[in-house]
Amino acid sequence: MRVNPKGMSKANKDTPVRTCVVCRNQFGKSELQRFVWERKTETITLDETQTMPGRGAYCCSEEACRERFLTQKQWWKRAFRLLK
Ligand SMILES: [Zn+2]
Repeated sequence: MRVNPKGMSKANKDTPVRTCVVCRNQFGKSELQRFVWERKTETITLDETQTMPGRGAYCCSEEACRERFLTQKQWWKRAFRLLK
């Protein structure tokens, strides 16, 4: 992971960066999909507007990442810190 010691580069100053929970690569927020943990139903919901309350996790647009994230609950546990 490359980190600029002075912070984010000027070009990306206004772009929030988030990490894909599966591949751990960083992307601009708009390139990722946000998912929110629904405690009541113990499922995840796609947060299309990225404004839902609750603990969110981001997944990038890679087919492999998305499939792993959506089909393997172990990722949810990691992403939403459900492990006790
Ligand atoms: Zn990814």
